[in-house]
Amino acid sequence: MVTAQRQNLAERPWLDPTAQPQIVLEGLGKTYGGFTAVGSVNLSIYKGEMFALVGASGCGKTTLLRMLAGFVTPSAGRVSIDGVDMTDVPPHERPVNMMFQSYALFPHMSAADNVGYGLKRLRLDAATRRRRVEEALEMVQLGGLGARKPHQLSGGQRQRVALARALIRRPKVLLLDEPLSALDKKLRESTQFELMDLQYEVGITFIVVTHDQDEAMALSSRIAVMDRGAVVQVGTPAEVYEFPRTRFVADFFGTANLLEGTVSACEPGRVTVHCAQLGCDLYVDDGARAQVGERVCIAVRPEKIRLSKTPPEPGRHNRLQGVVWELGYLGNRSTYQIKTPGGTIVTAFAQNERRTLDWRIDWSDEVYLSWDADAAVLLQS
Ligand code: ATP
Repeated sequence: MVTAQRQNLAERPWLDPTAQPQIVLEGLGKTYGGFTAVGSVNLSIYKGEMFALVGASGCGKTTLLRMLAGFVTPSAGRVSIDGVDMTDVPPHERPVNMMFQSYALFPHMSAADNVGYGLKRLRLDAATRRRRVEEALEMVQLGGLGARKPHQLSGGQRQRVALARALIRRPKVLLLDEPLSALDKKLRESTQFELMDLQYEVGITFIVVTHDQDEAMALSSRIAVMDRGAVVQVGTPAEVYEFPRTRFVADFFGTANLLEGTVSACEPGRVTVHCAQLGCDLYVDDGARAQVGERVCIAVRPEKIRLSKTPPEPGRHNRLQGVVWELGYLGNRSTYQIKTPGGTIVTAFAQNERRTLDWRIDWSDEVYLSWDADAAVLLQS
């Protein structure tokens, strides 16, 4: 039991009050003229994490990453790595390397020379240099392709050359700006796993900027969600998905039905919300403190909603009726948009468990929607 606890803390150092973070951002901010690109950001990131910064375009992800790398001078706050203040340290003296969105490979140089460029300032002898380049190419599974120029490589291979170049100096921290954005969907998925394996192998802290929520969920130990220059939530992929703290976070990851209402009763662990738009009470099992009369918003994920043509068994779960307004077949699942009598559209997903060409529930069918009180999250409106 104690060993399992220790292992859990080793894998999740942010839960260990005695663990020292490797990277600490304190009140870090950047303004351009009167415009705040990044507000006062506080973050602690631990050694060996695969940490993702996510948010909509223009929310300040890249600016934050560039302040960590030293390419952008903060207007306020401090950056420290392994307890050393880095705020005024130039980029090439930081134990940090960055892999750019465009990969920034030199087109006239071979893959090996591109990778070796990362060692330029180290003044190594030719044999050591060659060995380190070969090792780095092997590490990203490009052994034997070192002589090729970037245009003779696929998108995924170019991405790996850029990765090898960024890793060859063995930085303590690798910053990756949209590392997979140049790859098509299938290649992105397989490269995600390669990136995770590689990160595990080298044990370096990776900080990844992405606007792709699925990529962040698949890759990361933890995710910082940014909105208009501020970090609005930090958590594991499951925490930000299942327990979003704000409407923005609930809406940013996947799909969420956001139902507004007023708290009508509070019991320990359970809140009753009167939802005028649906004309009924909804129940939420949520530890969050709520007060009678408070305006709130309930977030329910579509996959937590059960659809049936017959009334669900009575009980203290949530239950609505409606008509199938839209439906979409996505292969593995179908998406239903159900219109309630008051006109609210509720989205529900149904797993396509059976191999059939018929719709179990079809357009215009009258259906029941139900979900358990612990499947929803209460958010401040
Ligand atoms: P994207 O996902 O589109 O790359 P981002 O979240 O990485 O966006 P940033 O590039 O960090 O966003 O930019 C944050 C904000 O700061 C944007 O509104 C951008 O226009 C602004 N900004 C960035 N660099 C500068 C600059 N040098 N001068 C003025 N404004 C800037």
